[in-house]
Amino acid sequence: MRLDVVTIFPEYLEPLNVSLVGKARARGQLDVRVHDLRNWTHDKHNTVDDTPYGGGPGMVMKPEPWGEALDEIIASGQGDERPVLVVPTPSGRPFTQELAVELSGKPWLVFTPARYEGIDRRVIEEYGERFDVREVSIGDYVLAGGEAPVLVMVEAIARLLPGVLGNAESHRDDSFAPGAMADLLEGPVYTKPPEWRGRGIPEVLLSGHHGRIARWRRDEAFKRTDRNRPDLIERADPASFDKKDREM
Ligand code: SAM
Repeated sequence: MRLDVVTIFPEYLEPLNVSLVGKARARGQLDVRVHDLRNWTHDKHNTVDDTPYGGGPGMVMKPEPWGEALDEIIASGQGDERPVLVVPTPSGRPFTQELAVELSGKPWLVFTPARYEGIDRRVIEEYGERFDVREVSIGDYVLAGGEAPVLVMVEAIARLLPGVLGNAESHRDDSFAPGAMADLLEGPVYTKPPEWRGRGIPEVLLSGHHGRIARWRRDEAFKRTDRNRPDLIERADPASFDKKDREM
């Protein structure tokens, strides 16, 4: 998978050299290219922002550098390869595990993290007419820039790529994962030692009984979801719950 990131703070993306994403890059599973937006400016101050039409506080990112950057990056694709443009913005659609799964199936993503009050709207319109453009929010809060959202999204997407996680089954039981735990958060997990500060391990996990363990995990997932995210249960497909869930 190819990932391009256009930013005025390329150094902010350095964590993409670390851990899971860094290893995936080193193994050639991810081709990550970080670009400095200021390379596509032509004045001596490398200006990327200007005052907003209509007045108001803050600055807006100018369309010209974004247009030149995106044209050049898109033209660097092989043959008729077309990227999906991912535009981080608090006013976008929520970034969910479902969207991470969908984007992990795309061969090429271009991220456009902004600063200030965001990018001149005409850029989104211009590319939206020719490309698959996704305006995406990582949560209901406002950050100073889109670089941290890009780190969040890239990590969520990269760990879903075949061969990136050591154990391909690791994300099977994750919170939000389709399958046995669909619509539920993952329940608590334990490791050695068997006793820590007087606290033991739930008996069932030591039983070796796969059926009982699976049932216990399912029940704990249900209880945790009910406690922390009742909205997930309310909007879930009732068919995804079994009789025991409904009794809880
Ligand atoms: N005035 C904008 C608004 O209220 O929607 C906020 C702009 S914010 C200060 C600057 C940039 O940070 C955004 O254009 C976006 O790239 C990024 N950003 C901030 N919060 C975000 C979030 N929750 N999800 C995704 N990107 C975000």
